[in-house]
Amino acid sequence: MVNEQQRDERHKARQQRLKEQVDARIAAAQEDRGLLIVITGDGKGKSTSGFGTVCRAVGHGLKAAVVQFIKGNWACGERNLLSSAGVEFHVMATGFTWETQDRQADTQAAQAVWQEAKRLLADPDIQLVLLDELTYMVAYDYLDLDEVLDALVHRPAMQHVVITGRGCHRALLELADTVSEVKNVKHGFDAGIKAQQGIDW
Ligand code: ATP
Ligand code: MG
Repeated sequence: MVNEQQRDERHKARQQRLKEQVDARIAAAQEDRGLLIVITGDGKGKSTSGFGTVCRAVGHGLKAAVVQFIKGNWACGERNLLSSAGVEFHVMATGFTWETQDRQADTQAAQAVWQEAKRLLADPDIQLVLLDELTYMVAYDYLDLDEVLDALVHRPAMQHVVITGRGCHRALLELADTVSEVKNVKHGFDAGIKAQQGIDW
């Protein structure tokens, strides 16, 4: 039978091996540059993850900016907080696309706010850009995929970008350095719970 001391020793040896592997990987990561991060999938947590990254960056004194595609009619809590912390914020002027059902107006609104995004993506003073819900703009053809890719590829070398939204285009996934897919296990809305202020927006 294995006694406590043997278990402790095995645990210690395993942890030591793990530490060596982690240390080797940390030593191997030598590059310093801006990351392109995509948070996609059908579960809750994409935008909140993007805003969490903005908070983290701002907390370190980095200059961050947010461009929200779609949610113009929602008074989102992050905007109230981050605007007062000096974070530049741009929101598309229409509400959810499936509410407006006006393709031309949506395209115009997307194009208008995209001009702000493009300016931010060319500004080396901005260290993090959150492009919240950008994926839909590409999926609906409101924005030209090549133009989006071009702006991302040619952005300042040290600038980080976070893109959120479901159904992210394959070309954006390929360009990204880090991709996370949030899986829907269950959501309170499906059980009839209304969207809650401070949690859902
Ligand atoms: P959040 O902003 O809470 O991180 P999200 O960005 O992952 O959510 P979106 O698809 O942008 O998700 O939807 C935003 C709103 O829809 C939020 O109020 C969120 O709670 C809700 N929502 C997200 N995923 C689901 C889901 N699988 N079923 C029902 N409602 C959802
Ligand atoms: Mg979202």
